[in-house]
Amino acid sequence: MIRHFPRKHLTALTLLCATVTALALVPGREQVAAENAQPDSRRVVIDLPATPAPQSSTTVLPLASAQRVQPSATTTGIDVVTTDLPSPAKPAEPSAFDSTAKTNQLEPVEPVEPVEPVEPWQTLTVKSGDSMSALFQRAGLSSAELFRITSADSKRRLYSIKPGQQIRVLARDSRVEKLEYLQTDLKTYVFDATGDSVTVDLVERVPDIRLAHATGVIKGSLFYAGKDAGLSERQTMNLANIFGHVINFVYDLRAGDYFHVVYEEQFLEGKKIGEGRIVAAEFTNSGERFSAYRYQDSEGYFGYYDEKGTSMRKAFLLAPLNYSRISSNFKLARKHPVLGKIRAHKGTDYAAPTGTPIYASGDGRVSFSGTKGGYGKTVIVKHAGGVETRYAHMSRIAASSGKRVRQGQVIGYVGATGLATGPHLHYEFILNGAHRNPRTVLAKLPKAKSLPSSEMARFGDAIATKVALIEGLRQTQLAQLERAN
Ligand SMILES: [Zn+2]
Repeated sequence: MIRHFPRKHLTALTLLCATVTALALVPGREQVAAENAQPDSRRVVIDLPATPAPQSSTTVLPLASAQRVQPSATTTGIDVVTTDLPSPAKPAEPSAFDSTAKTNQLEPVEPVEPVEPVEPWQTLTVKSGDSMSALFQRAGLSSAELFRITSADSKRRLYSIKPGQQIRVLARDSRVEKLEYLQTDLKTYVFDATGDSVTVDLVERVPDIRLAHATGVIKGSLFYAGKDAGLSERQTMNLANIFGHVINFVYDLRAGDYFHVVYEEQFLEGKKIGEGRIVAAEFTNSGERFSAYRYQDSEGYFGYYDEKGTSMRKAFLLAPLNYSRISSNFKLARKHPVLGKIRAHKGTDYAAPTGTPIYASGDGRVSFSGTKGGYGKTVIVKHAGGVETRYAHMSRIAASSGKRVRQGQVIGYVGATGLATGPHLHYEFILNGAHRNPRTVLAKLPKAKSLPSSEMARFGDAIATKVALIEGLRQTQLAQLERAN
């Protein structure tokens, strides 16, 4: 694989591989230490030199004074109004042309120190069953005060506090002056009640982003491999979703398949607070290698593309279900993978718990929605290019006839209606009137969208570091395998 690279790249790559290897072998890095017990997995935190991580910092975004709130705000319910942040007030500098300034130099003004409030802040941790009024009672504050504070926030965020969250209150003479609602590690709502009216601001902290990576080998299931590699279930799901258009994780996974993944981790003051996105991944399935790089195009849209700039998204999903709900199905393909038997029948069966969401596998229009004999509750979708997809045995239908559906939209839920021995999705793929195996026909369908050639130079630059990282992981794994043999 290296031979494809020009010599210059090769040198850079060798260096990088060496670095990655070295990093991977450095003991004492806590994550490595934690993972060393597992022979075919490793995970280290790498600071990516090309994109220096920003220091933890805070940004104050003015919020929710009634006039500023845009009703069309995001689904997260956070009304972030982007404004130019005022530059912090600078201390008055004596001017060379100012005579009074010169005299001032003789008697330097003491720098103003922030005055510690006389009344201490009270920190209240939300316990299970707590409400704000319980917290206010605990803090010795009246319900009138609670009303004064909460009525300032049209989103009523203080009514949806959750156990473990913290509320900090500063009160003087039983009157609340400030209240901070620490919703997450990154988001704090600050209620300022010093004036006549109460204002609410969102203070956001920007975490450090570090890149972590993992390599996993499939033995039993994707989920076990992900776990062995130190990935969370969510991150394993993300991995499955990225490759969900090219690999059928229910049917086509094989022992010995392996993956490399580079993903973001969020740190705040040195403490890991969460996971970020997968930025690069490679999955080798039955000897065939698929790569995916996250890229934001010049119009601002994100997507995953292979090295040639071909989108990982295809016209149809391979398995039209939410994988997270069928994690027990992430098993190696067996002789009878699902219901004990693969009948000579015109579809693919996916066993999954009743209620598992079923997705439209491609964009289209619902041509049938209702009960259809042995199929039970069924949805049929017509797509462009003479394709029809059928979803049967649903417990509940969530798409009505004649309606447009988008790929990935939930159209119903797994059930056992009609002739079914247990809850499963029976999925059919029909091309020009003939039943086809959706697992093999997709390769013959029109190719996925590629980035336009005008985008390719930018794309190449954007993914170069990640391509090298993945290559480094691949080399490390090869070296390991060679050592093992
Ligand atoms: Zn079936």
